[in-house]
Amino acid sequence: MPDPTLRRSILRAVDELAPELIAFLQQMVRTPSLPDEEGPVQRLVADKLAELGLSVETVPTRFVELKGHPAFSDDGFSPDGRINVVGRWLAESQGAGDGSGSLLLQGHVDVVSPGDERLWTRSPWSGDVIDGKLYGRGSCDMKAGVSAGIFALAALKRLRLQPAHEIMFQSVTGEESGGLGALATIVRGYRANAAIILEPTNRQVCPLQAGALTFRLTVTGKAAHAAMKNDGVSAIDKFMLINQALNELDARRHAAYHNPLYANPCNVAPISIGTIRGGEWHSTVPEAAVAEGRCGVFPGERIEDVRALLERTVADVAAIDPWLQAHPPRVEWFEGQFEAAEIDVDHPLIRLLRANHRAVYGAEPDIRGVPYGADLRLYINHAHMPAILYGPGDVALAHTANEYVPVDEVIAAAKTVAMTVVDWCGVIS
Ligand SMILES: [Zn+2]
Repeated sequence: MPDPTLRRSILRAVDELAPELIAFLQQMVRTPSLPDEEGPVQRLVADKLAELGLSVETVPTRFVELKGHPAFSDDGFSPDGRINVVGRWLAESQGAGDGSGSLLLQGHVDVVSPGDERLWTRSPWSGDVIDGKLYGRGSCDMKAGVSAGIFALAALKRLRLQPAHEIMFQSVTGEESGGLGALATIVRGYRANAAIILEPTNRQVCPLQAGALTFRLTVTGKAAHAAMKNDGVSAIDKFMLINQALNELDARRHAAYHNPLYANPCNVAPISIGTIRGGEWHSTVPEAAVAEGRCGVFPGERIEDVRALLERTVADVAAIDPWLQAHPPRVEWFEGQFEAAEIDVDHPLIRLLRANHRAVYGAEPDIRGVPYGADLRLYINHAHMPAILYGPGDVALAHTANEYVPVDEVIAAAKTVAMTVVDWCGVIS
């Protein structure tokens, strides 16, 4: 933790900047940034980083540079139009501080669709603050984290502190659909000694995430007039057999996995079907069913092994059903293929963050694993950088109607992060 005088100065600087921080977050929320439409909000971020005196670089997401990478997830969006923003606060002389090195603060600016706007009390792009809550799509996930990270640096600038090791801020695109923005920065060679990804973690520090693999299952049946049902084979009925086996596999896998960092032992890496399309008409026996879902990956598992296990489960169902034996169901893996990732809970970055969180909130943060995919895995597994998730807001509100973030948490996160930057990078005042 920074010494008491410096700590008080940092807390005061963030408080003084709080109105500006919240206004910036409102401006971000009022700048919609659905996938492939992040340009305007990225300009906002780039201008703010430049205004703070950081050196701003842009990194395009080019499919051609990424598609050979083992972590590539084809999200189907425009190949070259998406820009990631990197702000670098370079150290004047390396090694002069007492910290552990350079640090990356990272956030994504893409947001998911607001869904049915009639479910929202006000426009999804309002950015309105009511009773201490700032509303809008992307407010919580994760423009709050991006704003808190930027204003943590603004507070240090205000105090005229100079980092002893580089601080880098990355504002990336495409996280929700596979993380191509983060991957683009990794492929271009951007590295730091550690990273904080400012996702909404509900005041928790998260050093591990489960993975998730998107799959499509195609089951073939045989069409017949519904009045002659028994002359046909219902692809939907056959799909139900497989669905049951997948649910049983899911239950077995969770029963065998024990990790105290997960609060709900049944929701670590679920297998879940999200869509099913089958049949042509109500009075025809369906000749095809196509289901799409996600298959969770437990921390420590390899994605090849998980794919093989799911494929084997489907094959085992087919092996005892004469129709499916003759017409084997097809499993395809597509779009998001997120690995799991984790770092040691005793990592020095976590120790510093815990101490600083306690100084701001007056209570120790929980250390938790998250069940969803995030950019964390790319930095840990492919950039070989220790990384954690930590940021304002509750992920339970992300992707929902009337998404919001408590304003107090955004300000608190800026304080915790600013102090952690000082601890990790060291400063020369
Ligand atoms: Zn997010």
